[in-house]
Amino acid sequence: MDKSPASVIRDEIRSIAAYHVPDSIGMVKLDAMENPYRLPGDLAQQVGRIASQASLNRYPDPAARALKTRLRQAMKVPDALDILLGNGSDELIQMLALAVNKPGAVLLSVEPSFVMFRMIATFVGLRYVGVPLTTEFGLDLPALQQAIRVHQPALTFLAYPNNPTGNLFDAAAVERVVELSPGLVVVDEAYHAFAGRSLLPRLAHYPNLLVMRTLSKLGLAGLRLGLLIGGAEWLTELDKLRLPYNINVLTQGVAEYVLARGDLLETQAAAIRDERARLYGRLAALHGILPFPSDANFVLFRVTSANSVFLALKARGILIKNVSGSHPMLTDCLRVTVGTPEENDKFLEALRESLPRAA
Ligand SMILES: *Cc1c(COP(=O)(O)O)cnc(C)c1O
Repeated sequence: MDKSPASVIRDEIRSIAAYHVPDSIGMVKLDAMENPYRLPGDLAQQVGRIASQASLNRYPDPAARALKTRLRQAMKVPDALDILLGNGSDELIQMLALAVNKPGAVLLSVEPSFVMFRMIATFVGLRYVGVPLTTEFGLDLPALQQAIRVHQPALTFLAYPNNPTGNLFDAAAVERVVELSPGLVVVDEAYHAFAGRSLLPRLAHYPNLLVMRTLSKLGLAGLRLGLLIGGAEWLTELDKLRLPYNINVLTQGVAEYVLARGDLLETQAAAIRDERARLYGRLAALHGILPFPSDANFVLFRVTSANSVFLALKARGILIKNVSGSHPMLTDCLRVTVGTPEENDKFLEALRESLPRAA
């Protein structure tokens, strides 16, 4: 009897590579779109108090009522809409994929975009269809229209702004996708704090639209908290797939407290937006670098030899993301997260030293 993983684990799981998180100890970490700022000292102390008083012996509130109320205020979610919480938005993507997974059902997205859309489709056994973006990284509406007609996707994800390209799609084109789709369309607004644009005001117009947000890029990546916003008719069904206590006691208490200090994360996001403009300008001024405009907290840029530049930066203690090779449209592209001004200066200096010398 063959009792090995080869005979037991599904073929498509054994054939995928695990999501790789590189070791970053001691590095200037500009690879994962984290907010570079820690909480100020007084707030950090209050967080310590919350942790020390939390009932760690008890299960968390399964409905996370207090946190949801706070999120509703912080994100200006209209009363008519519901909120569903996930252990990061990744968990929400997984719940959505599980919920629509009828035999033959399709998850559709665009490429290049967030790799978890494709990976989670594979995890749950959904058929995945990726429609290429235009050369300007915009939505290719004729191609999307064709793909929607042929594949009738049950679930479509559009990241707005998109990762790893950084741009906002044309909002009218996004809405056209919602209109054309026979299934659910989820607009993933993970980078909303850096974009200032949202499909949230359009939710009431479309019965098949949901908006997803996360606290990860806003400054609380370590807490793991994502939210899905939409009509109760959808979220009540999806909630049945949520594992009962998915948002732990510490996350609930700390997120609620930090969000109550409302403007702090928004102020940090504003500082990051200013730094993004400076970083973009400095990159554009470098010979042999083509940065792409960004509405997020990172900048995608093209160099002449991405792999060697990436390794040279790493050797100088700077960790960014090498996306060259992940998609043909990203050949020789690297993605850098906006850090503090000091981190960005270190990155820019190391980059100048890492570029191939002009002949
Ligand atoms: C980072 C990112 C997420 C993941 O968010 P978590 O809430 O940390 O799981 C989701 N969508 C996009 C497009 C992202 O870039």
